[in-house]
Amino acid sequence: MNSHMAYPAISRVVVFGGTHGNEMSGVTLAKHWQKDLSELQRKTFTAEPCLANPHAVEKCVRYIDQDLNRCFSKELLCSPVSESDPYEVKRAREIYQKYGSGSSSSDFTFDLHNTTSNMGATLLRCSKDDFLSMHLANYLQNSTGDQCMPCYNFLIDIQEKDNVYLQNIGKHSLTLELGPQPQGVVRADVLSRMRELVNRGLDFIDLFNQGKEFPSFEMDVYRVLSRVLYPQDSTGDIRAVIHPDLQNKDYVPLKPGDPIFKTFSGEDMFYEGETIVYPTFIDEAAYYEKKVAFILTEKIHCNVPALKLEHQAGHLGTPK
Ligand SMILES: [Zn+2]
Repeated sequence: MNSHMAYPAISRVVVFGGTHGNEMSGVTLAKHWQKDLSELQRKTFTAEPCLANPHAVEKCVRYIDQDLNRCFSKELLCSPVSESDPYEVKRAREIYQKYGSGSSSSDFTFDLHNTTSNMGATLLRCSKDDFLSMHLANYLQNSTGDQCMPCYNFLIDIQEKDNVYLQNIGKHSLTLELGPQPQGVVRADVLSRMRELVNRGLDFIDLFNQGKEFPSFEMDVYRVLSRVLYPQDSTGDIRAVIHPDLQNKDYVPLKPGDPIFKTFSGEDMFYEGETIVYPTFIDEAAYYEKKVAFILTEKIHCNVPALKLEHQAGHLGTPK
């Protein structure tokens, strides 16, 4: 590909924190920016901070009734409203009304999350046709190299017809997933890294809006293959834990025959796949309720076309 991808200017940028109420870096930053917007101001726009799930934040829990970050399907957003709807379904509709629908919908959405897994700074992208987000991810990778928290770009390639994640509401979007950080805790290193990533992301959008062109590049992305469940006994209780050799090894190649679990009786259990894969979200606390032990990804090499601003006919343009 040698042609440019062109997109219109990004005028409305929304930064969500607290989509999960106990992921404290995003909660802390969104609350801070609500009190002082100055850090979110750029020449061509001012980003809006939003605390996505205020009730869950208040109680410092992931959610009240159900996971807000699974409530943004078209089906749920458009279903008839009922007083008995779960809190997060009501909240998703409010967020969609305010930021996701109509001509003033968000052009770029950041959604700030933490993971208890050792994933450094991970970027999740739901729309595989969103090249602007890939350029932003590439810009972040090249401008915030940090030895202790390598910046990965972890591409979530949604195969489902409907995208259920909050980032679905923006025309372009990225979810930042930083760890390791325990639930309900905010760590200085993780907080400052997230803050830096958002700031550099806003810088990128500002440069794009001012007409800077970004050349084509190549990058590795990780595409989700499958979720691996904990081994369970007949009552549904887990009967093994993450193997010590796998603990904290997010993004480290997992080869056929490598140990993945240790049972309570001390036996090792091994990866039985036939190809090298890359485990992520290893031992993520929030996934225990679904018995998910880790998520397997494959590494894919991508060519990303150059990016430039699409010049739109303004008020003085000739109507067609
Ligand atoms: Zn989260």
